[in-house]
Amino acid sequence: MSELQLSLKTDKSQALHQKDQQTYLPTFRRMPIAFKKGEGCKLWDVDGNEYLDALAGIAVNSLGHAHPAVTKAVSKAAENLLHVSNFFVTEAQVGLAERLTSASGLEHVFFANSGTESFEGAVKIARKFAHKNGRGGKIISMKNSFHGRTLAAIAAGKPKMQVGFGPMPEGFKQIPFNDIEAFKNEISDEVAAVVLEPVQGEGGINVATKAYLEELRALCDEHNIVLMFDEIQCGMGRTGKLFAKDHFGIQPDIMTLAKALGNGVPIGAILSNRRVSSAIDFGDHGTTFGGNPLACAAGIAVFDTVSRKEFLEEVTEKGIYLREKLSALKAKFDCIKEIRGLGLMVGVDFDFEAKSLVMKMLEKGVIANATADTVLRLVPPLIISKEEIDHLVNVIEETIPEFQNK
Ligand code: PLP
Repeated sequence: MSELQLSLKTDKSQALHQKDQQTYLPTFRRMPIAFKKGEGCKLWDVDGNEYLDALAGIAVNSLGHAHPAVTKAVSKAAENLLHVSNFFVTEAQVGLAERLTSASGLEHVFFANSGTESFEGAVKIARKFAHKNGRGGKIISMKNSFHGRTLAAIAAGKPKMQVGFGPMPEGFKQIPFNDIEAFKNEISDEVAAVVLEPVQGEGGINVATKAYLEELRALCDEHNIVLMFDEIQCGMGRTGKLFAKDHFGIQPDIMTLAKALGNGVPIGAILSNRRVSSAIDFGDHGTTFGGNPLACAAGIAVFDTVSRKEFLEEVTEKGIYLREKLSALKAKFDCIKEIRGLGLMVGVDFDFEAKSLVMKMLEKGVIANATADTVLRLVPPLIISKEEIDHLVNVIEETIPEFQNK
């Protein structure tokens, strides 16, 4: 981002940034930092500066950078078999499918390449099921939700993201999150599915309430509406349980995963119960790359590490530690309105735009992110140590006074 005045020496990064601006579609306001290497929660730029990564590639690198299990799995896959198409079966895909279906209790999986593609596939499955049952194809989504950037995903997302891209796919309606009356008002035979993130990520780290999800589940059962959870950001151990749904004891009909599933190797997954997915016939959906042996090998390495009880317990413990430390900051600084989150998916809501704070933290070698204008989003690698959490919170603490009351 050009307004960033880095006090670090970043000559090589700046040169690359300039070239990037000439060639890359100008859709991201990129930071003028080019990274070269990562290990654990540390990143190094091309000029040799070291950073603490509290963003993890937006909740992707849950096992940090260059995790040995993932590196080994990916290297082995690259030596043996990168791709064969979904006309054939591979050990890696079957291995990941068995793990995800048995851990989630959802019997079918389809592998995609990204979050937004998983969302699109999930919408297709839900609509096919609805149409087979004589219902319309309307998809209800939540205000402040985010499901990706393809057309159906933006149709379900913030109206702001749709501007300039019409005509939008039809049949999407947003309602307020955690508001069961708003959902009740929408119920009709036209509704195929309701989709939500159990913990909203881009929307500012907003956690669904258990009562809301319970009522939603009951209403979906009563009206044969498909309940879809988007766990693309909050799934795969991020909240201290393998899936965020496990905090609430609510089973969706469809659940999407992506981001951390491959720890940086692109992969997405749509999990569905057999009742709903049985609506799908041969030829209804497809992908060339989705679920190839390389991506699935990475997925297995991630799953086998993250799904261990002790690993998840540590995420919970470190999440509590981080939130306690942040709560201490809240007691000290009036500009912090709220600390939200579950596990290591944490938002600090300020009374000012969080972006400038993020920039200042970056100058001090800490990578975080601002979302929903005022929220500092912390989604560090799940392997972060308590010492690294201390450092992160210290940097936040020393940076806040530069913004308070501004
Ligand atoms: N759903 C949620 C909850 C997300 O947070 C994201 C990405 O931030 C997506 C979907 C889209 O994923 P992708 O960027 O891989 O398409």
